Amino acid sequence: MKPPGPPPDDAVLRAAPVRAAVAEAARRGFSVRCRDLGDWGGRVRPCAELDPAARTIVLDARLLAAALARLGPARAQALAATAIRHELAHAADPHASEREIRAYLRAAAAGDPDGTVRAALVADGRT
Ligand SMILES: [Zn+2]
Repeated sequence: MKPPGPPPDDAVLRAAPVRAAVAEAARRGFSVRCRDLGDWGGRVRPCAELDPAARTIVLDARLLAAALARLGPARAQALAATAIRHELAHAADPHASEREIRAYLRAAAAGDPDGTVRAALVADGRT
């Protein structure tokens, strides 16, 4: 069996599909990096952690390594970009439920055709 390769480092953040999400985070004042988020002891493993005070989003390097090995680079990069946008949505609305966050991301992915989400965020000064 081939030994596992090195975990992806911040190089994943420079991949084209991820760069846009990193740039979006930067516009909102957040830096993004990859680190091993440790062992979660059987609980659902998060893709990323948001630290609103430190203005950082940390992607789980271990999870990204697994995604890279099992799904390939394109899907691992899509996972990273989605995780960044998920955490940005949490930052924009700290009281939103996971369901609301997913709805926001679906609207954003669909270009938010009726502009409702964006209008609400702009009105609140969140963008
Ligand atoms: Zn969440």
